[in-house]
Amino acid sequence: MALRKLVAGNWKMNGSQAALAELDAILAAADAHTTLDVAICPPFTLIAPAAARVPGLAIGAQDVHMAQKGAHTGCVSAAMLVEAGASLAIVGHSERRADNHETDAEVQAKASAAIAAGLTAILCVGETEAERDAGHALAVVAGQLDGSVPREGTGDTLVIAYEPVWAIGTGRTPSVADVAEMHAAIRAKLDQLLDDEGPKVRILYGGSVKPENAAELMAVAEVDGALVGGASLTAAQFVPIIAGAAAA
Ligand code: PEP
Repeated sequence: MALRKLVAGNWKMNGSQAALAELDAILAAADAHTTLDVAICPPFTLIAPAAARVPGLAIGAQDVHMAQKGAHTGCVSAAMLVEAGASLAIVGHSERRADNHETDAEVQAKASAAIAAGLTAILCVGETEAERDAGHALAVVAGQLDGSVPREGTGDTLVIAYEPVWAIGTGRTPSVADVAEMHAAIRAKLDQLLDDEGPKVRILYGGSVKPENAAELMAVAEVDGALVGGASLTAAQFVPIIAGAAAA
């Protein structure tokens, strides 16, 4: 089943009030390519000003806490994100799994909290280079999905992002054949975990997506869009990726 593509940008810990000017051209590109969805996930501090500047563009967070409120210094709840103007939240990004030691169970709880508050959860999975070299990539990702996919997820509330850790920020990407193999395996796992909703959940590819490789990657079977890091920081890089995805 061909799903409506989603191209989401993850600004990570980058950006400023001045950088919000990039959103004007990104919104224009989103409006010009009505066959797909576009989103930007800036740092927490820029969610509200981004949503105010470009109300027509989907704005997401890069993380969310699993609790509704309470004594969690420095954390932000799903309801707070909704109030700030977010409609999506990334959970389980490999940088958070590594830097903050997030477990699959925690990622699942975060995804559930996001969904319960009305956000779409973009749940990241992906193997390290050592795991791929050892021939364990498929098993590692299957295990992450088993442990972190919220079983109440639907095609409207859940998106999976396959992001091989070794491809993030490195300029390296898997072969088209490896992307196809992994996305087919993720689709099969989602069908098993989510029954009728499994075929409706979008599976993004992420890791060094650039204007030069976007169309090729987005044309792979079961690739339903992209999660883009570095190349989402400027409209000059991100807009051609949107166009490439729309053409795929
Ligand atoms: C990411 O970290 O989600 C990502 C895909 O980064 P980059 O595009 O910079 O590799």
